[in-house]
Amino acid sequence: MLSMSNSARTLSVSLRIAIVQLNPQIGQVKQNIERAWELVHKLKDSISKERAPDLVLFPELALTGYNFLSREHILPYTSAKNDGPSIDLAKEVSRLFKCYTVIGYPERVDQGPEPILYNSAAVTDPTGKQIFNYRKSFLYYTDDDWGCQENPLGFQSFPLHFKNRARNVSEDSSELEDVTLRTSIGICMDLSPYKFEAPFYDFEFATYNVDQRNELIICPMAWLHSASVTKNSGPATAASVKLEAIQKAIKKEGIPACGSQGNYQLSFNNSDVTPRIARESVSPDDNYEELDKPDMSNVNYWILRFMPFLALRQRASWPARSLEPLVAGSRKRRSYMGASLTSQWEFRNRNAIVLMGNRCGIEDANTVYAGSSGIYKFNGKFADAATDIDSLNESVELLGNLGKGLEGVLLRDVTFEVTR
Ligand code: GLN
Repeated sequence: MLSMSNSARTLSVSLRIAIVQLNPQIGQVKQNIERAWELVHKLKDSISKERAPDLVLFPELALTGYNFLSREHILPYTSAKNDGPSIDLAKEVSRLFKCYTVIGYPERVDQGPEPILYNSAAVTDPTGKQIFNYRKSFLYYTDDDWGCQENPLGFQSFPLHFKNRARNVSEDSSELEDVTLRTSIGICMDLSPYKFEAPFYDFEFATYNVDQRNELIICPMAWLHSASVTKNSGPATAASVKLEAIQKAIKKEGIPACGSQGNYQLSFNNSDVTPRIARESVSPDDNYEELDKPDMSNVNYWILRFMPFLALRQRASWPARSLEPLVAGSRKRRSYMGASLTSQWEFRNRNAIVLMGNRCGIEDANTVYAGSSGIYKFNGKFADAATDIDSLNESVELLGNLGKGLEGVLLRDVTFEVTR
């Protein structure tokens, strides 16, 4: 037989992923680090005889807290991109498990009269070396409040190399081989429409990832629960109603004003998948309760933001010529809502893994985070069947989520296919 070397090889990749969900409070870096280590050690102890994780993800601004009010407020917590407590912790975790670690932290670049500030995520490799630094591209109001700058490079992709984590299924091989995955990072608001002003259906981040053929998408987040008071909460009365509801929830749950800390949720069981619940069946204004259960309103919303990765039977009725003005010319995208000029659904028959490491807890008695850190696999199937744009869509597998309000660790084995 002739050599097969020119044909595409299908590799089955198996990764062990850990997500650490934290409730960091501003001004308590030492305590935040202590609880981060407590969780890492609980993970280590309970898997002592098993394989260590290949990647550990921490939230956005994981050790400093998020709700900074001004430049002066955040400056003492900022650090250069190769320095400071967050990078130190990432390096140590990487060396402990021989894994990649991704952690969000506030970055300071000392250059010119005023330091430049970014909301960044550091990546360290299994030897503890820092290999990548991503800066948030789309900023949230809070980032603006402390003078954060946008990533001048925009969304970015980078390779992550995993040793002995792939198997050639085209040849039914049992031998393990290395694989390099096309990877990107999205920090929280990166998943939203730019400044909440861009058209919702542009799905900028998801479209970028479909177009780049990224396979591993890593999201450190500080995403809010709907109970939170925000700049969108409207007139003062609406905000005060929300504040009262938060007070009530705190009392009912028997937690301090900053939310739950130290009551850890450990979810290590692969069979503990997240039940699918339709968007219509979840109230968007859920109370802050059942802290050990995921916030399904946000889970459904996050899935919606990855619409270009979702199978949708409806695409069959989109005429290709209607796409032309949407993808042509100066537009930076190849596809729109998952469809391109050459393919009804660009992501068909592909796989991608999305990791969302969100913080939990409450800051300033008014800012409530949604927790619900989770692992999702987009399987590229069901193109002719699926119609839902929420967790009911079978082309997304909900491999597990933590609860909305407890610190903890989510550990899952994920298996997916890539072609090389
Ligand atoms: N869209 C996000 C939210 O509403 C943004 C928060 C963030 O960037 N931290 O929670």
